[in-house]
Amino acid sequence: MPFQPLPDDQPSCTVECPACGHRGLVYEQQLGLLGPCPVCGAARPRYMGSVAPGSGRQVSFGRFRDLLDEPRLLSLIEEALGLCPLDAECFADAQGREVPLEDIHYALQGNAGWQGQVYNLHMNRAR
Ligand SMILES: [Zn+2]
Repeated sequence: MPFQPLPDDQPSCTVECPACGHRGLVYEQQLGLLGPCPVCGAARPRYMGSVAPGSGRQVSFGRFRDLLDEPRLLSLIEEALGLCPLDAECFADAQGREVPLEDIHYALQGNAGWQGQVYNLHMNRAR
């Protein structure tokens, strides 16, 4: 599935290739999902940090992960994506196959309504 940022989203995170040093800006949602380096193709770019505040309601993979002890997030994952929690950071689809956490984050960040709900959970937590 090609990456489709929402209209309010801006790329705000710097990544650097550990092999060739190429740096680029990516959307927060892409962290943890990045493919090979666009320049040398050899390695997986590494997250260097945010360089600009996200203008939309993006929640990075790390913050999403921190929210996994939030029952409302677990409900959202179950209801929105039809996945059931196996344990703390592990979810399975209806066929019982394990679904990577990165994919769950990606799916939630690709829908404005779900992205907003995750953002609200994060903001409640941050207070
Ligand atoms: Zn590279």
